[in-house]
Amino acid sequence: MNDCAFCRIAAGEAPADKVYEDDALCAFLDIRPITRGHTLVIPKQHAAELEDLDPEVGAQVFRTGHRLALAIRRSSLRTDGANLVLNDGKAAFQTVPHVHLHVVPRRHGDTFRFAQGFLLRRSRDPIATASAIRHGIVTLDTEGPAGEGRTEE
Ligand code: AMP
Ligand code: ZN
Repeated sequence: MNDCAFCRIAAGEAPADKVYEDDALCAFLDIRPITRGHTLVIPKQHAAELEDLDPEVGAQVFRTGHRLALAIRRSSLRTDGANLVLNDGKAAFQTVPHVHLHVVPRRHGDTFRFAQGFLLRRSRDPIATASAIRHGIVTLDTEGPAGEGRTEE
């Protein structure tokens, strides 16, 4: 095993609040979230940057980020949107050299909170937050592929 922090999380050898996992990917809460529910999606196989990433795996990473954004909206976190961001390379402020897609939940009118979160990066109640997201995934899955069954407010 290499000394990559995210490879260790993917292998279950380092702690993380995981919200989703399959053979190729896993998703877990960011340890220093900008907003509540800030999640990272990573490929299990190490790739430091996009240069090293199989494009098919990249597509899977985005698909999972997409699903998580929808799941978080349906969760008890009651969010209205999300920023999906991938910092590729040191020049783009990538600090962990294992490809990761940020899913940062947003609410209408949260500009001040977002700016504050950006500075403070404080985690609160990660166990309940991860549980809420996992429930959101279950809710999303019960809707069916085309979002059938979704009730508009
Ligand atoms: P980036 O600047 O895109 O490389 O972001 C790396 C992200 O990884 C930051 O938001 C960190 O808070 C987050 N991070 C670093 N180490 C861990 C860890 N062990 N568990 C969860 N998130 C982490
Ligand atoms: Zn790695």
